[in-house]
Amino acid sequence: AKATVGFIGLGNMGAPMSRRLVEAGYDVRAFDVSPEARTRAHESGATDVETAAGAADGADLVILMLPTSAIVASVAEEILAAGTARPGATLIDMSSSDPFATRTLAERVDAAGLRLVDAPVSGGVKGAVGGTLTIMTGGGDETLAEVEPVLAVLGRTVHAGGVGAGHAVKAFNNLLSATHLWVTSEIMEAGKRFGLDPAVMLAIFNGSSGRSGSTENKWPNFIIPETFDSGFGLRLMLKDMQIATQLARQTGAPSLLGEDAVELWAEAAGELPPAADHTEVARWIRSLAER
Ligand code: NAD
Repeated sequence: AKATVGFIGLGNMGAPMSRRLVEAGYDVRAFDVSPEARTRAHESGATDVETAAGAADGADLVILMLPTSAIVASVAEEILAAGTARPGATLIDMSSSDPFATRTLAERVDAAGLRLVDAPVSGGVKGAVGGTLTIMTGGGDETLAEVEPVLAVLGRTVHAGGVGAGHAVKAFNNLLSATHLWVTSEIMEAGKRFGLDPAVMLAIFNGSSGRSGSTENKWPNFIIPETFDSGFGLRLMLKDMQIATQLARQTGAPSLLGEDAVELWAEAAGELPPAADHTEVARWIRSLAER
């Protein structure tokens, strides 16, 4: 029989990821604080439960796909306190968490006789639906080898290093991604005002050295069509950028553009609604010109 997998956090990413595990034949025990999310998980074939401890009940693996490190830590505490997971079970934090918090949590989890690995992802909702995520892992070789069959259902794994390494690389990736999106949005507006066709600009960048996830994916798929529905929240992006710049600061590395980017994104986040998609920054940057 396949492993029993607890899955906690059934949002934009967690819902399609848990669905894939159900479809791959795993016994998935799904929990989210949102009753609607639990109902959707039930409809997709998971066993929906009422608590985090219930999701961990008899589980060999518990996947966490939650907004922040603080929430991950409180859910993990609940699981440890309940003692419902199998002895030696592995918690896999696939959220984009803070690597320092992850290291602290790993010690807590180890002391309780369980294990923790970090396995954050890139590839968005589309990657979650299609099982084509890039999964950046941090943790011991042996533990990661054990969880690999489950991760393989969700995407392609790249081992970044020890516990916290996956979370560090993920935060850095998103700082790159956010900075690219901001400057792309600035030059797209400038180009349009100069009289350039946005589609022509993107086609040229995508065959040139200015290409990025913003020119290849975000602009053509969510911004030009004005749907702004990538499924990745602006506040979550800002959280990742703050993790990255704080990490840079703590290492003593310069983070000049990074800090400026955090400030700009924070300003946009302060003005846009809490649930705004991160691609809304493009529209917000355009609106600055009209002030
Ligand atoms: P989301 O806000 O859509 O989903 C988070 C879910 O967690 C919600 O359903 C919420 O109800 C639930 N939740 C909150 N607190 C909880 C608790 N205490 N117990 C149980 N459930 C709780 O977020 P998302 O977009 O799915 O992102 C999840 C994580 O993955 C974040 O760390 C995010 O930064 C990261 N991420 C997102 C994307 C993306 O494209 N959306 C891509 C890569 C990584």
